[in-house]
Amino acid sequence: GLARNQYLRAPKLLSPRWWEMDDDTVWSETVGEDGALPIYFERQSAALSEEAETRLRHAADAIQRKFGTVSLQVSSHAGDGEDDEDNRRLEVERTQAVKGSLIGLFPGLDDRHFDLRAGGQAARALTEPDRGVVTVQVVKAILPGEHGFHFFPGYYRHLFDTMRRTPILDSQGEETGRTVYDNLTVAPQQSYAVEFPPSKTIDETQDYAQIAMRIHRFLVTCPARRAAELEDVSWWQYLQGWNPLTGMPLYVYAPAFSQNVKFSGRVLAAFDAEWGDAHTNGDTYVQLQLNAWTAKKTFDGILNGGETDAWFDPWRRYLESRGVEFVSARLESFELEDSCLRAMVVPDGGMDAIADDEADYYVSATDVVNAEKVTTKLPTVGVPGSLRGYTTIVAPCPPWVPGAAEPWRQETIVRNPVEQPGLRDWDRLQTLAGVQYFFANDFKLVGGYMYFTDADWALSSINPQQFWTHRPTLEKDGYVSVMSVDVGDWRTPTTTPVLLGRPAWKCSEKEIAREVWRQVTTSLLRRTPDLILPQPVWYNVDKNIVFGDSPAGAPKANHTPYQVPIVGDWKRRPVGDPWDPTPALPNHLHGSLPDLPAGVWQARHGGYLVHWDKLVFAGTYMRTFTRMTTMESANESARNAVNAIIDHLIAARYGAKIRERITPPSSAAAAGGDLNSNFTRDFPRPSPLGDYCRIWNPEENELPSAQPGRDLDAERFARGLPHLWDALGIELPLSAASYQRAILNGWWPPPLDPAAAARAVARLPSTDALFASLAKIRQILVQDADGRE
Ligand SMILES: Cc1cc2nc3c(=O)[nH]c(=O)nc-3n(C[C@H](O)[C@H](O)[C@H](O)COP(=O)(O)OP(=O)(O)OC[C@H]3O[C@@H](n4cnc5c(N)ncnc54)[C@H](O)[C@@H]3O)c2cc1C
Repeated sequence: GLARNQYLRAPKLLSPRWWEMDDDTVWSETVGEDGALPIYFERQSAALSEEAETRLRHAADAIQRKFGTVSLQVSSHAGDGEDDEDNRRLEVERTQAVKGSLIGLFPGLDDRHFDLRAGGQAARALTEPDRGVVTVQVVKAILPGEHGFHFFPGYYRHLFDTMRRTPILDSQGEETGRTVYDNLTVAPQQSYAVEFPPSKTIDETQDYAQIAMRIHRFLVTCPARRAAELEDVSWWQYLQGWNPLTGMPLYVYAPAFSQNVKFSGRVLAAFDAEWGDAHTNGDTYVQLQLNAWTAKKTFDGILNGGETDAWFDPWRRYLESRGVEFVSARLESFELEDSCLRAMVVPDGGMDAIADDEADYYVSATDVVNAEKVTTKLPTVGVPGSLRGYTTIVAPCPPWVPGAAEPWRQETIVRNPVEQPGLRDWDRLQTLAGVQYFFANDFKLVGGYMYFTDADWALSSINPQQFWTHRPTLEKDGYVSVMSVDVGDWRTPTTTPVLLGRPAWKCSEKEIAREVWRQVTTSLLRRTPDLILPQPVWYNVDKNIVFGDSPAGAPKANHTPYQVPIVGDWKRRPVGDPWDPTPALPNHLHGSLPDLPAGVWQARHGGYLVHWDKLVFAGTYMRTFTRMTTMESANESARNAVNAIIDHLIAARYGAKIRERITPPSSAAAAGGDLNSNFTRDFPRPSPLGDYCRIWNPEENELPSAQPGRDLDAERFARGLPHLWDALGIELPLSAASYQRAILNGWWPPPLDPAAAARAVARLPSTDALFASLAKIRQILVQDADGRE
């Protein structure tokens, strides 16, 4: 599920009366003055006549073409029944008949789109003594209130594979030959609302050289070393070349450049470089750059329509065509009684939970807050054990942070994660949500995402309608363009006096909408002072942010907090590492868990856990190769859950039967050789029960030219040796230049007490050490040149 997907129901403020919109004779002939389409029924009958069916068919056709997604009011009034009770029955049955017919005729309509009114006012005026009437009115346009209008970077593999496997069906349920992946379109531009880079200092090339060195160093670092050395270091520390032994960075960046690098991550995905771990950020950074670095044939994309229309509706229709039944209900908890697991579920509209213990398997795919909530009654083993306190407790500050020992930073806070997300900088749950602005004219900033790196609240925006195949029009939709703005930082106060320096989390809905728009326009006008921007006609703040009751009420809850990959937090993620079934690829993660407690099962090769032979967890909070909180990691996690079920089915249920049918292992396998060693690295491992879900480890899909360097590092890491760059001091000359520039510009040393300053100077690399490392590099280059000759 994608919690971010939501519809906004808004009155059609701007559109004229719909039946006046065009000259289509169907409407001008059949629609009454109040915009109500009357459907007549024979006396005492709730069956649709042929004439009524024709009218509804025309209506569905017109709604589909002219309005897109709408809310309909279906109102009925009956005076032709035997008595009042009979009239009520007829009213209910007739509204149902009309609704059913419209749903059948217009695939985009479902229960959500209807407001049924038996005994409704709209129909009363048209009622006749010997026949009943039902009226159909368009009451509201349904606007896409989707947040972020998801970005699909070209490096996504799991998600794209699933989208390619999701056919779009026609109205008869037949495959059209197109898939949901075809609804992705290129977002050709990304742009920054500040002059980039903003540092106008003597030598920007120094900053770029430093950052390029660190990124190259990352590329030639093997995955095992990344896991061992870069998870307890922030991305910013890594880019500085922070040395944990000396406490000194290799590089000092220009202040404006530092600000930009630290801030850009926050704008992108609610983490800043200072708090995100270097392993996760580095992996993601490399993947995001692959399109630029290589001639890859993928593209950064966006959907060509609202997510519901372009993706979820086709997905749901396809699954239903395969026999999947969707049931809308709330999972209250999982419970274990006499080793038997059951789910307690409250059906939609119901009050009480009912027990469901029929399932072969349960995949719990809720968000992380609810994952903890629904597992509190289970024993603290496996994932339920890892989840205990995962969202409800904020741990003390990590020890490497300056001032971590201060008493307030050492507090362990027990909290309600929905009401108090983002309590500390190192809180893994922060808020990422935003506002959509709707415009009466065609408006777009750029042909893709726009990042406002100088806005206080870390804003990014997109005008999605420019990519839609069905463009909104004022007449049809009540708006022509939409701008979705994500607010990445809800805790930093504004620097302007307008809101008295309040953060978004302390502002009312209206204040947030106004302030975000003010920050957007200020940022743009700073760069282009003569810009004239349109005014939005209305806005929508993410409905998952719940505000206090009074109009001035600040947020009191965020129902979808966003998980940030905080430094050092990977180890705390729920247990069970992902497993890549591609046989030729090594698994750098830790494989199977050593001591599995009772009730928890894991395949011998590792992978996700199966609890009490039934329960598997999936979600971005679980461990994935993708790591970063994205749709891609959600999809990868779900695949890992499915693979665990396949393994469990084979081992625990059909193991013996399947083994009987397996051909005995060849001599190569018996001798410990890898049966599959001659297959290509892309060959996915099949299972006797059907194919495993394919898993792609991004670290196995990086720059091919960096592979020899990574392999060399893997060898060194296995032998307990440091990275070759560190051993040779390759970065020391650049580091010396960095300090020289920083001292000349007064950026370094930072204000320190004299004793600390003396200690820092003592740790600076000595001139002798610098010369020695230069001499070593020279020696290696000479040897290399000799070797080539
Ligand atoms: C503003 C914003 C912008 C983003 N932009 C991007 C982007 O551009 N690209 C990208 O890749 N990712 C983006 N993300 C991240 C991405 O949306 C999430 O990582 C992804 O949706 C997580 O998927 P999930 O299935 O793990 O969880 P969710 O999407 O949170 O789905 C969990 C589902 O479980 C349901 N649920 C919860 N509790 C219960 C219960 N008790 N009973 C029944 N159902 C329950 C919820 O209603 C929800 O539908 C963005 C996130 C945010 C907040």
